[in-house]
Amino acid sequence: MASGFTLTFVFLLGCCLGSFLNVCIYRLPRDLSVIFPSSFCPHCQASIRPYDNMPLVSYLILRGKCRHCRGKIHWRYPLGEALTGGITLALFLKFGPSWLFFSLLVLAAGLIVITFIDLDHRIIPDVISLPGIALGLLLAIWGGWISIKDSLVGILVGGGSLYIVAWGYEALTKREGMGGGDVKLLAMIGAWLGWQATLFTLFFASLTGTIIGGGVMLMQKEDRHYAIPFGPFLAFSALAYIFFGPQLIDWYLRWGKS
Ligand SMILES: [Zn+2]
Repeated sequence: MASGFTLTFVFLLGCCLGSFLNVCIYRLPRDLSVIFPSSFCPHCQASIRPYDNMPLVSYLILRGKCRHCRGKIHWRYPLGEALTGGITLALFLKFGPSWLFFSLLVLAAGLIVITFIDLDHRIIPDVISLPGIALGLLLAIWGGWISIKDSLVGILVGGGSLYIVAWGYEALTKREGMGGGDVKLLAMIGAWLGWQATLFTLFFASLTGTIIGGGVMLMQKEDRHYAIPFGPFLAFSALAYIFFGPQLIDWYLRWGKS
């Protein structure tokens, strides 16, 4: 068992990663470089000093306001940092200091960025999903955590199954429910985690998406055609698979028999 100091350090490193992911979430859909310029306030464009850019801590010290213009810093920034820190810590606790941990952390980072961009803009950027598919396959070959075959079949099943669902949905309802971005995202998940994961992810995302999406539609009765982005459910389900996949599948199969 790692010491409290190690775990705190891992969590804080995760928060720093989250701080970078916040930058990606804001800039990627706007076609801005994620490296230059350094962080700036979206209200007054003043660049943010390193001591004001500490994850979580700076938000608390500045009480959620820009030092220059006192403009509000969105609560999503500390949320993204804490969320990434929490997921980093959870992965570390499950997989320990290993290459598998780093590999899954890269996947989780991609999923976090995709989730927030999809919520904000209803798009899943190809600049993440397409290199993500290639990187997932390369890591499967290099790391050997899943076989090359599982990874390749994962890409095909992930891309193919969701493509069929999207096509069927459109044919039935005459409106577009899922974008091509979702198809590429599930192919990416298949590349990293194997085809078994894509089936689980699609099933679990549809289940949670129906429950939560149904609830949201009931609450806002006016606009029933308000399409809920599916990407966040796919991302959440892939993370659920990483942590609880085998147990959930086992539980479901036993539940089905009784
Ligand atoms: Zn400002």
